Amino acid sequence: MRVSHLSAALLVALGLSWSSATLASETRIPDSVVKDATALRDRALQDNTSWKIVESLTSEVGPRLAGSEGDARAVAWAKAKFKALGYDKVWTQDVTFPKWERRSEHGEVLGRSSQELKLTALGGSPGGTVQGEVVRFDDLKALQAVKPGSLKGKIVFVDILMPRARDGHGYGIGSTVRRAGPPAAARAGAVGYVMRPAGTDWHRNPHTGMTRFDDQTPIPSASLTNNDADQLARLVALGKTEIKVALDCGFNGMYTSQNVIGEITGTTKPDEIVALGGHLDSWDLGTGAIDDGGGVALTMAVGHLIKQMKIKPVRTIRVVAFANEEQGLFGGRVYTESQQKDIRKHQMVMESDSGPGMIYAFGGNWAPEAGAAVKQMYDVIAPLGIAYEPLKGSAESEMGLMQARGAASAAFSHDASLYFDLHHTPDDTLDKIDPKALKQNTAAYAAVALMAANAEGSLGSGPEIAKPER
Ligand code: ZN
Ligand code: ZN
Repeated sequence: MRVSHLSAALLVALGLSWSSATLASETRIPDSVVKDATALRDRALQDNTSWKIVESLTSEVGPRLAGSEGDARAVAWAKAKFKALGYDKVWTQDVTFPKWERRSEHGEVLGRSSQELKLTALGGSPGGTVQGEVVRFDDLKALQAVKPGSLKGKIVFVDILMPRARDGHGYGIGSTVRRAGPPAAARAGAVGYVMRPAGTDWHRNPHTGMTRFDDQTPIPSASLTNNDADQLARLVALGKTEIKVALDCGFNGMYTSQNVIGEITGTTKPDEIVALGGHLDSWDLGTGAIDDGGGVALTMAVGHLIKQMKIKPVRTIRVVAFANEEQGLFGGRVYTESQQKDIRKHQMVMESDSGPGMIYAFGGNWAPEAGAAVKQMYDVIAPLGIAYEPLKGSAESEMGLMQARGAASAAFSHDASLYFDLHHTPDDTLDKIDPKALKQNTAAYAAVALMAANAEGSLGSGPEIAKPER
């Protein structure tokens, strides 16, 4: 999961605005389209296509770490699945990135209280066996402020608890500790790094996820479980504590995976696009059901349902199963670069990458002229128990990159209260998906995608409304 960026409210605050020069009149959704979208919504609530897709992906492919053999099988699976679901066109984009591998990992407390520590290597960590005295920080800034080289031979332990929240905002804290902690520890001269996980559960499952070293020499870096972090904090409070961290992992050459794209071709405006997405890769510890099998499945189901109901989208419905989100939005960058000249042709973008929990709010970014049309969209999904938050929230992950370049977006807020109990752990498995919530999700994305595709007029995408942020 990644949360982003420029909201329309922010643009207004910055003195920027959506261009209205090219929009002659207010965009609207024809009554017949509202009717079709309502029928599509109701069909999706009764249909288990998205469940079958995520069941197939997590069972037949299983874990699919970017660059692994599972990644290659996932790409083949996605191509075949799009075809089986009746998409008109299936194509791919090459996505190249450094391949990171996890082979084995072990942690233990040494000396008077010797015992195992449950941990897992952070993505991007080098391998190596290190041991040293633990220096605990409950404040990342304090670690970043220590004198370079002053923690020579030590193992840094950053002990910051990530709060649970429906909107998942605690992950901002947890992911910052994961991303910024290891390079800060390396700069301070530490030989290793462990952290309290970017996770909210008290099971002994460590949470992996990507970290990054800039110009520092990388050091072995791992995440503990919350339980093991508690234990280590107690031991450190009692006195000098030494631990050993043994990781066999690291980068191993380059790998080329693929974004897999399926399209239901539009009837009269085939070169205009409503783009939906999720990411096909997962971490290796679980089977990537909630992150992001559910997102891939529900967006893939949208085109299938539209086709099955014989509804003709005016614009093309494009579903992208992105390659390697987890290690740095690699697939999203390739897609966004390839569409740089066609931002205006993207009528609307949307992505599901914060777990398939119940959607409780709908917002996004669009031009003022599209406000009434988006309200029509909202009225169709309101009975699904969704609140309206116009011009709030943003498209997630890859589609967030598109939004940052000016694509109008729909933002669905999924209940993430339990998401970070499971996220990036061995517990991310199919049984954690609530079939009812997945149906609600599919119904909402399908109805909005269809109405965006068949709207009379634009929702306001254009490169001038937002400058590239990243
Ligand atoms: Zn993830
Ligand atoms: Zn994700």
